[in-house]
Amino acid sequence: MSDAFFHPVSGFDLPRFAGVATFMRLAHVPPDHARFSQVQLGLIGVPWDSGTTNRPGPRHGPRQLRDASTMIRAEHGVTGLRPFEARNCADLGDVAPNPADIADTMDRITAFYAQIKAAGIVPLTAGGDHLTSLPVLRALAADGPLGMVHFDSHTDLFHSYFGGQMYTHGTPFRRAVEEGLLDPKRVVQIGIRGTAYDREDRDFARAEGIHIIEIEEFHARAIPDVMAEARDIAGTGPTYLSYDIDFVDPAFAPGTGTPEVGGPNSFQALQVVRELAGLNLVGADLVEVSPPFDPTGATAYLGASIMFEMLCILAS
Ligand code: MN
Ligand code: MN
Repeated sequence: MSDAFFHPVSGFDLPRFAGVATFMRLAHVPPDHARFSQVQLGLIGVPWDSGTTNRPGPRHGPRQLRDASTMIRAEHGVTGLRPFEARNCADLGDVAPNPADIADTMDRITAFYAQIKAAGIVPLTAGGDHLTSLPVLRALAADGPLGMVHFDSHTDLFHSYFGGQMYTHGTPFRRAVEEGLLDPKRVVQIGIRGTAYDREDRDFARAEGIHIIEIEEFHARAIPDVMAEARDIAGTGPTYLSYDIDFVDPAFAPGTGTPEVGGPNSFQALQVVRELAGLNLVGADLVEVSPPFDPTGATAYLGASIMFEMLCILAS
């Protein structure tokens, strides 16, 4: 049973529209807080989108996700799990980016997550664009390469953009494989679709043994079957979960920079996470929520709901 300090504020004690918005209405426990060492599961914002190559905005994601997450109640609707009672959960605050310097920002993110890893806290991150995952992996994979389950419309495995730019939200997992942060044979990418410049990313995946489940195959098979294969690929070793909101059909998640039609609906978006129970997860992220393209707030609410599914998996 977790410490009551780490339980979210109930809507019966303070209405959901009132108070300062933290992730899931949890206590704000930055690293200099006296309770930091007691946190087991930390929610973190990375308000940064310098890796974005087209429509910007995910730098505004964490604040919008915090607001939308005040809708989340304490008990899971399907499993009945009460994650905030299973683990000491807290909002660890935001990593402060340097919006004018990509390398400096990545170093700041890696330093922040190294501190979290040293404290034994499992991180659940709200991005930020998908380049955010690279500096997080640099910290979490310090002891050896990780497996990864990756939901996305895109592989994010490209070599470079714009004639040699190596650090964009289309390249993080190419760098992560090159840097030995991921074991490519334990990586599965699910939901890949849309038009492309070329197949250079797929060629790299094939050469490295990365498993891609494209959207045609995803829709043709039942989700429990797809996810059983994903669990087999990731295996029993330490594994990271990375979730780009553009995995979901833009009818349900329009608020993102690189939407691709023909994706899963919002029910399936949650179901795929639930099917990851049993994996040895060392962290997770939800990236690419872009509030400027999300006028109804539906994308942020779905994003917060996906984060709750992830939290339940990380806490069980
Ligand atoms: Mn992505
Ligand atoms: Mn994507």
